Amino acid sequence: MIVMKFGGSSVANREQITKVLAIVRDRLPLQPVVVSSAHKGVTDGLIDAARTAAQGYNPGEAVIDKQREIAQALGCPESLMLPFFSEIRDLLRGIQLVGEVSPRSLDYISSFGERMSVRCIADFFAREGVPAEAFDAWDLGLITDDNFGRARPGPEYTERMRAAFADRVAPGVVPIVTGFVAKNAQGVITTLGRNGSDLTATLVAAAVQADEVQIWSDTDGVMSADPGIVPAAKSIATMRFDEAAELAYFGSRVLHPATLVPAIDANISVRVLNTNRPDHPGTVIESAPAPKPSPVTSIAYKEGQSVLTITEPRMFEQVGFLARFFKVLAQHEVVVDLVATSEVSVSVTSHDNAALKRATTDLRALGQVDVQGEKTILAVVGRHIQHSKGIGARILEAISRADVNIQMHTFGMTSNNISLVIDDADIDRAVASLHAALFE
Ligand code: ASP
Ligand code: MG
Repeated sequence: MIVMKFGGSSVANREQITKVLAIVRDRLPLQPVVVSSAHKGVTDGLIDAARTAAQGYNPGEAVIDKQREIAQALGCPESLMLPFFSEIRDLLRGIQLVGEVSPRSLDYISSFGERMSVRCIADFFAREGVPAEAFDAWDLGLITDDNFGRARPGPEYTERMRAAFADRVAPGVVPIVTGFVAKNAQGVITTLGRNGSDLTATLVAAAVQADEVQIWSDTDGVMSADPGIVPAAKSIATMRFDEAAELAYFGSRVLHPATLVPAIDANISVRVLNTNRPDHPGTVIESAPAPKPSPVTSIAYKEGQSVLTITEPRMFEQVGFLARFFKVLAQHEVVVDLVATSEVSVSVTSHDNAALKRATTDLRALGQVDVQGEKTILAVVGRHIQHSKGIGARILEAISRADVNIQMHTFGMTSNNISLVIDDADIDRAVASLHAALFE
């Protein structure tokens, strides 16, 4: 059994869905389970409509029209989408009346994208001769906690899902399962977070003990850098789970950061493939891939970060300063990514500018505080970086050649990445120069 996840651009329209059909048809002997995203732009459209409705405006019919057009192009009967359209209209009207959109209603409204796309796709597949049935993930046992916007299932989900698959999915039928959405124990709709369909795919794979998870997207696997910035970016043939996790975390757009956890736990390899070029081998992510020559795997970046620095000359030889500092950060729920310390100062980065600002007042009791926004974490990831002499020099040289100022720099003892903090405005230059130095 394999799990094949198709992202929003892979199911954007009839042309793309026809490619998906051919890809799935070719793999029928592998007993595929398909996990699908919403059609490209539909989730964004639904969220926009909810926000507009909360401000009291009539959100209009734009997103419904978009879905209707795709369904029509696929030749689906009109009745297939109508119940969803009327539920969306009711919900938006409700949001407009109460004038606010809670995390719970935001999950409810965002859930429609996947619920509609799987039905259109299954209907189209069946008419094209591939027996398929649409499923909402909750009907296949995906039940989560109540954390709207970032819900996760408890450990018992695997048993429940395995049983539900055995019970509900008829042999020879390809299940087309909603990515991203789930329900809590009370039956209220939740979501796993933006781009959460990847995570649905690995959760399903772990539950049904699939041989492989395939993430079908629109690049030739995981690339050595963002192809939008670096035209010479190359596809990476194999990488280890921890490298991929690091890359996902540091902003490589291909995988949702939490995606790999279920795959690591169940030791199922993840293959990242291109719907537009299905013959390209893509990238295999697994626990022990074959050795590769280059010490560096990829470059990723995450913009819009803030750096908080606390300076206290008396910190020198003090005991417990860091403990007090991090205690305040914890009290204000600041998620910290990078940390760098010197004798008299500590710097941390976080994406949560608001939480950092809240912590600032309390931190002033410990020392002088400075917060700077619009920073980018640039991460060079590779499992052999640790043991490769001269990589640091090549990285720093490339950055200085691009005339970019490095404001912070971290590299741990057992680390598989070197991270630098630079200004958001310098991303393109820094990434292009680094890629040229390390890969070209
Ligand atoms: N449709 C959802 C989103 O746009 C989930 C996904 O595509 O993975 O975030
Ligand atoms: Mg995605």
